[in-house]
Amino acid sequence: MSDHIDTTNHDKGQEEDGQYEKVCAMCHRTESKAGKMVQLPGGLNICSDCMQRAFDAMNNGDMMNQLQHLQNFPNINMINLGDLQNSVPKQQKIKKKEAKEKPEKVMDISSIPAPHKIKASLDDYVIGQDYAKKAISVAVYNHYKRVFTNTMDDIEIEKSNMLMIGPTGSGKTYLVKTLARILDVPLAIADATSLTEAGYIGDDIESVISKLLAAADNDVEKAERGIVFIDEIDKIAKKKNTNQRDVSGESVQQGMLKLLEGSEVEVPVGASSKNAMVPMATVNTKNILFICGGAFPGLEDIIKERLNKQASIGFRSDLKDKYDNDPDILSKVTLDDLRSFGMIPEFIGRLPVVFTLRGLDKDMLVRILKEPKNAILKQYQKLLELDEVKLDFDEGALEAIAEKAMEKKTGARALRAIIEEFMLDIMYEIPKDDNIGQVRITREYIEHTGGSVIIMRGMPGLPG
Ligand code: ADP
Repeated sequence: MSDHIDTTNHDKGQEEDGQYEKVCAMCHRTESKAGKMVQLPGGLNICSDCMQRAFDAMNNGDMMNQLQHLQNFPNINMINLGDLQNSVPKQQKIKKKEAKEKPEKVMDISSIPAPHKIKASLDDYVIGQDYAKKAISVAVYNHYKRVFTNTMDDIEIEKSNMLMIGPTGSGKTYLVKTLARILDVPLAIADATSLTEAGYIGDDIESVISKLLAAADNDVEKAERGIVFIDEIDKIAKKKNTNQRDVSGESVQQGMLKLLEGSEVEVPVGASSKNAMVPMATVNTKNILFICGGAFPGLEDIIKERLNKQASIGFRSDLKDKYDNDPDILSKVTLDDLRSFGMIPEFIGRLPVVFTLRGLDKDMLVRILKEPKNAILKQYQKLLELDEVKLDFDEGALEAIAEKAMEKKTGARALRAIIEEFMLDIMYEIPKDDNIGQVRITREYIEHTGGSVIIMRGMPGLPG
């Protein structure tokens, strides 16, 4: 039997796999947990505990019984190792926890940027939404302070999971993506509707953590400090007026409770489903920041109704419809309103930071076009600059684009599609003629009532 076991390092891929942990093919524990592995031909690893159990079972007279008992036993007589050659793809390997010799930038309490610094970085990319940016900066700062402070034993700092309410295209996802980039933490984005579609809720919710682990390069420690964004959370509200058991909404909320609060989850590494050959990793969600977002259509009416009811009590009944035209009605949301909407109290209770984003108006859309560090207009200008062509937009053109976007009612999401449509011709035609030195996009061009202004090289340019 011993000549089947290869403890030397023959495997070619082994060198480059140096930064990944070995996983026991039997018990799925990693090398850091189970101790040194014995390597079998075909890249299979077995921990010494399982190997010992193998020897014990063979030395035992009642061997067959033992073998039946230990299903999946990797007895060399039972498994054809040839079948298993290279059966663990690279993306399914678990990254080793921190290579000691490599001085890596490790986040600690002193490296967490202060809230005003987080907000200033967000300002570079996200236009408007000042309240949301402030709220998220403070919550994130507190969250990571909590993560890196293990000394506060008596006072357990509450987890700052968040609920973001705002119309579609107002920048919810963008805000979270920018945040994760600034903090350099892994981010997984999931859609709550997909959690309802699959029959088996538990598996699906855990797949969010699997995604996060993939975003962290299979580094469990890194994933445990990451951010999970669950979009369209309003779609799992409890259904009203139904006598049937609510399997899609309420039960998904129930299923998420443990995850939000902090629990150990076994997730498959590098695959979306659990099966015998996929190694598993245990991820603790205690320090993972969960941010839920949704548009909550109809919530405004619930808030209005409550406020109008309050206003109509007593002498102030004449103010009854005072809130009907309030553009900022969403920001007056209370936990009771969310409960009336269909979110269960335990669920809202685990998202202690609630804030709203405003719908984008025309001015904000114009600013989104030109102000962010990576603004769409800047991107096109840069592209044409490489051809030594100056691209300008006059204010009227920007307004016209914003007006068109408003009509689509999908917030800032419509901007890119509109611009791409008319820029296609420009990007196609301009490089044809080397003499073109400047192009100005006008309102007429956007509205298809006129052309763009083109200036040839050597001619006086347009005033800026
Ligand atoms: P949602 O609120 O539906 O999650 P997104 O965050 O996906 O909206 O926004 C869609 C796109 O619109 C983003 O990728 C971003 O480019 C742009 N955008 C939306 N809001 C803003 C904003 N406030 N500032 C800058 N860009 C924005």
